[in-house]
Order: sequence, then structure tokens, then C-alpha cells
Amino acid sequence: MSSAILTPVDARREQRLRVEEARRRIFSEITPIHGVERITLRSALERVLAQDVLSPVNVPGHTNSAVDGYALAGADLPARDEREFRVVGTAWAGRPFTGVVQAGECARIMTGAPLPAGTDTVIMQEHVRAHGESVHIGAGHEPGRNVRAAGEDLVRGDVALSAGKRLTPADLGLLASIGMAEVGVYRPLRVAFFSTGDELRSLGEPLGAGEIYDSNRYTLYGMLKRLNVETLDLGVIRDQRAAVRDAFAEASTIADAVITSGGVSVGDADYVKEVINQLGRVSFWQIAMKPGRPLAFGHIGDAAFFGLPGNPVAVMVTFYQFVQPALRHMAGEQNVLESHKLFAHCATRFKKLPGRTEFQRAIMENVDGKLVVRSTGMQGSGILRSMSRANCFVVLPEEAETVEPGALVEIQPFFGLV
Ligand code: AMP
Ligand code: MG
Repeated sequence: MSSAILTPVDARREQRLRVEEARRRIFSEITPIHGVERITLRSALERVLAQDVLSPVNVPGHTNSAVDGYALAGADLPARDEREFRVVGTAWAGRPFTGVVQAGECARIMTGAPLPAGTDTVIMQEHVRAHGESVHIGAGHEPGRNVRAAGEDLVRGDVALSAGKRLTPADLGLLASIGMAEVGVYRPLRVAFFSTGDELRSLGEPLGAGEIYDSNRYTLYGMLKRLNVETLDLGVIRDQRAAVRDAFAEASTIADAVITSGGVSVGDADYVKEVINQLGRVSFWQIAMKPGRPLAFGHIGDAAFFGLPGNPVAVMVTFYQFVQPALRHMAGEQNVLESHKLFAHCATRFKKLPGRTEFQRAIMENVDGKLVVRSTGMQGSGILRSMSRANCFVVLPEEAETVEPGALVEIQPFFGLV
């Protein structure tokens, strides 16, 4: 705002950080871990590669057949009519034909078998007429067909996988195909978390008047497990200065990142703010988003600190929008913020006031080949069922107002959030 006189609404908006700005500030203050370990291929699933992997071999290692059929020299194929070829042997996958195929000859060949000397083309068995020791092949076949060339997937020395890649099942297969029994990955990130609040009880404890079960630690545990980080659950911490101080002191010495929920909104019995201002460098932000307005971010010692709001849905939304990409970056992953925006047509109305980016919970589905999205209903930031039933967020931009059915909206499918 350039005007000197601000209305109360304008003043509040000015202090709020935009979602992208908060993300940018977090990324400018976190650094990837350094520790590297060599581990066996199976245990490397979902770990982050620490070095480029160069292929020590060509893939495939030898030129081979893509089909079951007959190998011959392409130059030998008939231009018209049919030609008879004498079958001089058989090439099996794992048992090559060692002879040389001459003009007027062919070799029976199986999928994956190396092409015999003298051949460069395979004719599918369905396209020949077999007669005892010989086959008849007609016109119209192209030389060089049905052959997989040595090195067509990878040439020796090529980068098979780049550092910073989180390893998928396909990557494990790729590494196996080039003979890698071990890989260098970053050590797992250690993440400590706890809940704050006098009203919270752990599972198995009886509930007194006004008390509730701590659910955020379970949600956080699940989201962290999916990231394959080492989790350190420090339990429920009472709203008492000494308890909060001890928890932060312990967490910051054992973990690379500390996550708390609750106690960052204004008007709490708020020792979180006081204690971490003493122990570390932390900023408290009002973010122009819903749910999840209050967020604290900074460092305590060497550990990154994320203070999430207490409301269960706000915990999940702020985790996915800020903490998850930050932890992936800290774990060594590259290009974390690259995203491909997806859009869907609204099947229901999405109510909204301008001024904050909203992450509403919704269900996307395909209707007659069109991607449509409908609200899960009540959107209160304490209603976890809205998250549980949803399969995507609908992201409504800061300036947007209520969106009517038929309009196109951005969605973030949950499967893309890892
Ligand atoms: P706070 O940010 O501490 O003021 O908490 C906001 C709301 O979230 C309150 O209704 C809390 O009771 C609730 N809340 C805070 N922490 C948790 C938790 N760990 N599990 C479930 N609800 C919580
Ligand atoms: Mg609280």
C-alpha cells in the first residue's frame, strides 16, 4: 500500500507474508546436510542420491532382438516376391549363436538374444512361413527392424542418475541394470517434533474436562515417515516455561530440524515464543493463507525450527506448503520447488473472501474425460475429516473471491505431495 492512511484491514494485510514469500525466505535460510553413506541397493529406496552415478557399461550391453523371430542381413531382404532362407541355428537369450549368418541364411532368434554375426535385422515369427529347415519371407520388411542397439539406453560414462534424486523403484532397477550393488546417499535427516498445550493428552490417558487427544503428533509422524526421515517424537510438552525450554534444548541438539504444533497464535499461554526467542533466531510470521495463518521459522543452534499452528488441518496445510519442501531440500533433494500446475473444473461452489490464499480440501475425479473437483464440505481448520476424505487441495489465489461451479481452479493432488 502506498497510501499514508491505512484502514485496519489494510494494516493487517501489510503485516502478512504471502505464501511464496514465506517459502522463499525459508529456502534462503536452510542448507542441505553433508553426511554421505554407502548402502546396498535395496535399502536405497526413497533415499537421496549424494553423487552422480556414471554408467560403467553400455545398456543394453549387446545389440539384441526385441522380438521372437528370425535374424538375417537387411541387405538380403527381397525387394519383391518371396525369398527362402535356410535356418542355420538358434540364438537364445543368455545362449548366443556363435556362427556367422551368410547370404541366403537366417538364424532363429529369441527376445533378448544377441544378434548373430552377419545379421542386423529381425523378422517377427508371425511374418514368415516356416518349412522345416527354411523360412519364406515376403517383400515390404524394413532393414534394421526389431533390433535394440547396444548402448541405446545408456552409453558407458553417461550420467545414469544425478545427485539429488530421490530414488524410485525404477531407479533401483536402472542401478541394478548397470551392476551397481551399492550407492552413495545422504544420511537420513533427523527430525524431532512435539506438541504443546495443557489441554493435550496422549493416547491411553483418560480425558479430563476440556481435554483432547493429541492428534497432531500422529499426523506429523505419518507425513514425516512418508519423507523417509528419522523421526524423534518428544511427546506432549505442557505450557510451562521450564518444560518448553528443556524440550527445545534437547530437540535442537539431537535433530537437524525441530517441528512443534500449537502455541504460536496470539493469546496463548505462550512460552514457545519467549523461550525460542532466548534460545535461537526465530521470526514469527502472519501468513496470508487459510488455514494456517501463524507460523514461526528460524534456527535453534544448528537446527532449523518450524513452529506450526495448533489446529489439526492447519498443521497439515502448513507442513505440505512449507515444511515438506524445506525438509526435502535439507535432505539433499534437488529441484524441490519445481511444480507442474494442474487445473480442474469446479463441480461445487468454493466460498472465499479476498486477502488470503486458501487451501480448501476437495475431491477430484474424472467425469466423462474431464477432471472435476468438489468440496469435501465443512472447511473448519479443526475438521480433520475434511483432510481424510479429500484427495487434493484446491488452491484459491489471494485475490480470488468465491468460485462458482464450472470455473477452472488450481489443484494440488495429494499423490504429488509425496
Ligand atoms: P494453539 O495454536 O495452541 O492455540 O491451538 C489451536 C487449536 O488447536 C486449539 O483448539 C488446540 O486445542 C488445538 N490443538 C493444538 N495442538 C493440538 C494437537 N496436538 N492435537 C490436536 N489439537 C491441537
Ligand atoms: Mg495451545
